[in-house]
This record gives sequence, C-alpha cells and structure tokens, in this order.
Amino acid sequence: MSIAAPFRACLDLVFPRTCSACREPLFEPRIRLCDECAADLAHHVGGEYCAQCACDAGPHLLVNGRCSDCRVHSRPPVSRIVRVGRHRGTLRALVLAYKYERVLDDLLGDWMAHASQSVISEAEVDTLVPIPTPLIRRWRRGFHPADLLARRIASRTHLVVTPLLAMARRVRPQTGLSATEREENIRGAFRCISPRRTAGRSICLVDDVCTTGATLREAARALKAAGAQRVMAVVISRAVLSDPAQS
Ligand SMILES: [Zn+2]
Ligand SMILES: [Zn+2]
Repeated sequence: MSIAAPFRACLDLVFPRTCSACREPLFEPRIRLCDECAADLAHHVGGEYCAQCACDAGPHLLVNGRCSDCRVHSRPPVSRIVRVGRHRGTLRALVLAYKYERVLDDLLGDWMAHASQSVISEAEVDTLVPIPTPLIRRWRRGFHPADLLARRIASRTHLVVTPLLAMARRVRPQTGLSATEREENIRGAFRCISPRRTAGRSICLVDDVCTTGATLREAARALKAAGAQRVMAVVISRAVLSDPAQS
C-alpha cells in the first residue's frame, strides 16, 4: 500500500467525496455519481431527437431526421445540433455543477466527443469553435466552460480548437428571458476575429447547453458572414424553454 492511500482515506473522512449531481457522500472514490443519479442519468442521455434543433422527437415523427418545426426552415444557420441528452434530472444537475464549479469537465467532454464523432466526420469539420463568454463572467468563474469542453473534444477527435469568435458587445445573461427576448438580447453579440481562417471552413460550435438555439444561430451567422461554408454544433444538453423542470 502506498503512503498516499491512508492519507487519501483520512482526507475522505474529513472531506468525504460527494456525488457530482446530488452531493450525497460517496464511499467509492473512483466513482463520481451515486447509484440513484447514475440510474437517472440513463433516462436523459441519448434518445431520439431532431438533428436540426436537438429537441426530443416526442410524439411527432421525424422526417429525414427533422421535426415539423425545423422542416419549414430550408437553410438554417446551424445545419445540425448534436447533444448528449436532454436538460433534465442528473444531466441537468451535472451541467449546472460544471458551469459554476468546473466538475467533471473531462467526462462531459468525452461524452460530447462520443456523441458527435460520426457527425463531425460526416460534415468534414475543420475546427472546433467555443461560444465566447463575456469577460466578466469568465473572470468570476475562473474558467471558460465552452473552451474547456472544446479542448477535451479536440483531444478525442484530433481536431483543433480555433477561437474564431469574440463578444462584439455586452449582453445580459439569457436566463429568465423569453425566446423573443433571447433572440434580441444576443443579436449582433459576436464577431469573427479572423475571416481569413474562417472562409470556406466547416465549423463545429461548442457550448454547454442549448435552450432556444438563439446563441448558436447568432454565432453561426457571424461565422457565415465571414465566409464559413458550414456550421454545426455540439452541446451537452438541450433544454426546452417552456419546461419549468429545465430552467
Ligand atoms: Zn447523486
Ligand atoms: Zn427540430
């Protein structure tokens, strides 16, 4: 037994490891979710969803992988949105914990890489582009969630991360806003910082959560205005604005 093991055991007694989702103490240090949360997670990961907006297929049939809302938009700014799961239960708890405390970024990034791998290669993606975070929020958190996730996906897919976007102006947080308010709040929020490295490229945007898709659409518009050929996106979870369990 190494000298570190008894020290680790004492440390776990003083500061017991807790489940990353519900914060219940864990007694098996290699596992980061309790049994209940692990079982709940299985209900919210995967599932059939629309390839364009990443919403659950629900009772409506998908036609060519798209829901009835998306079929009316023939040329959306974001061609596809890949998600790990729906923004509910344990997956939602993990996304929120990650956003504010940076836990499990390796695991979440691995899930995103796994979920998006085939679509990324089909779309012949050249580079991953994280959605920018306002400087003040980045400073308060001490990290940039989308950037860390993009770097983890890059390490698993052999793509590169190119921060092609920056904030063009200040925006209010989107939380608590209606779909229309979100669209207005984010309009013109991003600018492409290198049209030379954007023109003709196939780009995959990376963000933690997608709620109405307004942020991803606006980012894609900025990239397309700079000449990007194609823009898709990968997120951990897809929320639905009208669902109080997902706010
Ligand atoms: Zn738990
Ligand atoms: Zn859809």
